[in-house]
Amino acid sequence: MDEGIITGSCHCGAVRFEVSRPDFAVSCNCSICRRLAALWVYAPPLEIRLFAPEGTTRAYSWGVGEIAFHSCSTCGVCTHYIGLAGDRVAVNLRLADRPEVVEQLRVRHFDGANSWAFLD
Ligand SMILES: [Zn+2]
Repeated sequence: MDEGIITGSCHCGAVRFEVSRPDFAVSCNCSICRRLAALWVYAPPLEIRLFAPEGTTRAYSWGVGEIAFHSCSTCGVCTHYIGLAGDRVAVNLRLADRPEVVEQLRVRHFDGANSWAFLD
């Protein structure tokens, strides 16, 4: 298996992704990310291949609606978010097929609740 690629899926397997192994993953403390307990990796800079056929996810936006958080319609797992300006996609590394690979990644804590800056 290619150690440079991280693959993942929701619990039922309807939504899948592939992403290059990142230098770090991002844990955000904003009101939704902390509830989702998500661990994000972004494109750009990385390239993410997302397999989420039409109808497999439900989107949730809040506040000013700049981002849509997608969860699997079947199993409910939050798989990814999409910037509605088309500028950003992120996938949830908690869904990795091999969690031991993700556990080795550096985690950067992003203060999405207040300063919108990394805390390290
Ligand atoms: Zn699912």
